[in-house]
Amino acid sequence: MDFEDWPDELSAEQIEELAEQLEEMEARLTARLEAHADSAKPVDLDQPIGRLSRMDELQRQQMAQAQKRREKANLQKVRSALDRIRRDNYGFCMECEIPIGYPRLKAQPHAVLCRDCQGAREM
Ligand SMILES: [Zn+2]
Repeated sequence: MDFEDWPDELSAEQIEELAEQLEEMEARLTARLEAHADSAKPVDLDQPIGRLSRMDELQRQQMAQAQKRREKANLQKVRSALDRIRRDNYGFCMECEIPIGYPRLKAQPHAVLCRDCQGAREM
C-alpha cells in the first residue's frame, strides 16, 4: 500500500463514537453469555430421556457451547479494543501498524488488522 492510500488516523470524536459502540457490544455480549450459562450445562445422563432425544440434547448443547466460545472470543476482542482506547493506541493494525481507518472500524470496532493484513491472513 502506498503512503497516500493509508486511511486517516481517527479523530477524537470518531474514537469516542467507536468506544461507545464497543461498550454497547461488551454489555450485549456479557448479557448473552450470562443467559447462555444455563443452556450449556452438561447433559444429565440420569434423566429418563430416550436415546434419540439425548442425542438431540447433546447436539443442542454442542451448538450452544460453540456459540458461547465464539461470543467469549468476541468479548475478549471487544475488551482489548477498549483497553487500547484507554492506552491511546487504538485503531492501528497489529501487523503493519498503519491506521486501520474509520470505515472499517465502524463496521468492526474490535478489528485489530487493517484490510490488507486481514486479507493476507485469510488467503
Ligand atoms: Zn496491516
